[in-house]
Amino acid sequence: MPTKKYYCSFYGLMSGISGYLKKNLKGHVVKTTEDLLTISNIDKKTEILGVNCASPVNKEIMDALPKLKLIVALTTGYDHIDLKEAKKREIPVCNVPIYGESTVAQHTMALILALSRNIYTSGKRVKEGSFDFEGLRGFDLKDKTIGVVGTGHIGKHFIEMLQGFYTNIIAYDKFPDEKIAKKFKFSYVTLDKLLRTSDVISLHLPLFADTHHIINKKSIQKMKKGAYIINTARGGLIESEALLWGLETGHIAGAGLDVLEDEEMILNPEKLLWEEKHGEIIRHTLMNNVLIDHPKTIITPHNAFNSNESVIRIIDTTVENIEAFLGGNTKNNVT
Ligand code: NAD
Repeated sequence: MPTKKYYCSFYGLMSGISGYLKKNLKGHVVKTTEDLLTISNIDKKTEILGVNCASPVNKEIMDALPKLKLIVALTTGYDHIDLKEAKKREIPVCNVPIYGESTVAQHTMALILALSRNIYTSGKRVKEGSFDFEGLRGFDLKDKTIGVVGTGHIGKHFIEMLQGFYTNIIAYDKFPDEKIAKKFKFSYVTLDKLLRTSDVISLHLPLFADTHHIINKKSIQKMKKGAYIINTARGGLIESEALLWGLETGHIAGAGLDVLEDEEMILNPEKLLWEEKHGEIIRHTLMNNVLIDHPKTIITPHNAFNSNESVIRIIDTTVENIEAFLGGNTKNNVT
């Protein structure tokens, strides 16, 4: 039982998990909502703030939380939190580094399988009353080259899952792991070579300044004509305009995306009115709508993390992060 009661606010909390979180943070005041954090629903009493990745925590939000002591990201990525600003205020930011390697890898596999066998269109056609397979021909993964960009926790699990599909695997990472490469019989190549030779490219990188738009018009021009691209990492890794260009010109045959640039605006379009970088965000939002409607895409709503098992792991680590902080340490601190 904690000696001091902390006021904890969680925004964008996954559905059905609030009771479990409250039980595990017994003794504290715990407010939860599935709504995303905005300046208008902010709770000024908050001392510990929990957010999902569609709830950006910027200077304005931190200014509005005078009692803030700790930020816990319910995610692996923390690109939605202004770390510099948090550091300036000596507010630690913790994340959940490992919870869903196999969960996200499985979703990646699902997007590839759905694209390769036209699962979405096939299922829709049958539901609509037609049992005709004309136009639904897919392709085999066997003997295709799969390019994995980023071989961290998720990338490695994805490579492990690919073992049963008889593909050729190549990978690119700033820090190659030759032990894993030997174990799973793949080789590291340059990003250039990966782009030029892969039939399917799957992104598993964090979004940093040096990975932002790592897939752009130039890199798409280098890709094999008719390649597929999968992104279950972060929307900002792909330049949306370039992707659309690739799909329209046939350079890219299809895209399976769980993430989009500025995707939080899809949930919260009224935020567009107050954004500083207005023009760019409006352009991304319009582009997202075009990509969503595009016949060559399958887009899921940043749902790769979302399995029964992984949401429990996210809450367990988040509670551990909070307890460690209250015990005078920090765990999974990314500041
Ligand atoms: P990780 O940190 O374990 O692995 C990232 C890998 O990228 C590392 O091997 C690192 O060396 C490499 N890397 C970093 N910068 C690089 C660069 N500039 N060039 C080349 N390689 C670079 O991360 P992870 O747990 O595997 O997560 C990968 C991504 O998936 C993250 O963006 C994370 O936010 C995202 N993610 C998405 C979901 C979802 O629901 N869609 C869920 C969890 C994680």
